[in-house]
Amino acid sequence: MTTFQTMGLPESLMHTLQSMNFQTPTPIQQQTIPLALSGQDILGSAQTGTGKTAAFGIPLIAKLLKEPQSSALILTPTRELADQVLKQLRIMLGQKTKIQTALLIGGDPMPKQLQQLKRNPQLVVGTPGRVNDHLNRRSLSLKTTNFLVLDETDRMLDMGFSIQIDEILKHMKSERQTLLFSATLAKKISQIAEKYLKNPARISVSSATAPATNIKQENINVHEAEKYTKLCDELDKRTGSIIIFVKTKYNADKMAIKLSKQGYDSDAIHGDLRQNKRERVLTNFRNKKYRILVATDVAARGLDVPHIEHVINYDLPQSPEDYVHRIGRTARAGATGEALNLISGADKAKWYAIEHFINPGSKPPKILKMDSNTKKAPRKSFSKDDKKPFLKKKSGKPFARKKSA
Ligand code: ADP
Ligand code: MG
Repeated sequence: MTTFQTMGLPESLMHTLQSMNFQTPTPIQQQTIPLALSGQDILGSAQTGTGKTAAFGIPLIAKLLKEPQSSALILTPTRELADQVLKQLRIMLGQKTKIQTALLIGGDPMPKQLQQLKRNPQLVVGTPGRVNDHLNRRSLSLKTTNFLVLDETDRMLDMGFSIQIDEILKHMKSERQTLLFSATLAKKISQIAEKYLKNPARISVSSATAPATNIKQENINVHEAEKYTKLCDELDKRTGSIIIFVKTKYNADKMAIKLSKQGYDSDAIHGDLRQNKRERVLTNFRNKKYRILVATDVAARGLDVPHIEHVINYDLPQSPEDYVHRIGRTARAGATGEALNLISGADKAKWYAIEHFINPGSKPPKILKMDSNTKKAPRKSFSKDDKKPFLKKKSGKPFARKKSA
């Protein structure tokens, strides 16, 4: 088995990995790090929570330490994710490092970022919009940047960043190493990979669409009108940190306020919050200042809070991919977690689509529990030929990818 010790990493990096208690590389790290260290481009996919940050972070830092003239850019879809990635990489760099870094995210004050850029950072992490702002105002130059990471690329494309990414790439030289990570390897991703990667090694660890196996998933059928009461029942039964997903920003705020008033410590995170507020909400959640975070999809994607024990889908997500990402907020790095789905009649079709996505060709889903107020009998099973409106195109196709290194 590949270990960190046999990878030929710089000594200072070995030290910081030890201090972070990273003993053995995760599967995606085992496959990615040696190839990336040898200079290969990488097209990588793996479930959430499998350690992709270090999979690109370790070879990136090794390169920056060995080659002071090298510099790297990491693009992520959201501000929180950029912040989180940079924080982890700074820990890996160690306190004594001379390597300068910059965090270029929207909603953050410009002067701070301009200050960071004046110090010629070797490592820049940012979101596509703000990185482009800096390129346009010439406060950032990527002419010599020779290492590029596209993190959560599927999400960046979903969020409409593809043109921004194209723009950024025009500012970069082609002699560079590029690592692209994505939860799924949809066609759009292959097209981007074709454009920006050179002979990439394709690394795919287990099924990109299957959620981590140590997540216990449970469904409760419930009438829309009784959903909130049911939610409170379930909150009472659970201990530990909980993240509740809702559909809209407005409902996220509303629910956090309502829950707090009733004695359930909670706060909300969504895309309309100012940057410093978002950071405060997250830091307090990480530090367990309150127990329940109500979130929308965009705000929560990629977030790494190690102690989330429960994910509750109050509203089901719009897409099956988002479901995998949501429940991937729990059971990080081998821990166990629970996911609970409150499914109202109107959401059934969505649930079937999700079930099919995470488990193609599997046995039909069981609705495990039935709310006592719901008169209709639980639907025990449905056949393959049942109508699944979301899945017309995809049905029958296996989603699981083969391993290929
Ligand atoms: P992903 O980007 O794949 O969703 P992350 O990179 O955010 O996953 O990692 C998930 C969690 O696993 C983080 O808390 C991280 O610190 C931890 N982790 C990553 N690699 C290791 C490792 N080799 N040993 C122990 N913990 C790890
Ligand atoms: Mg990640």
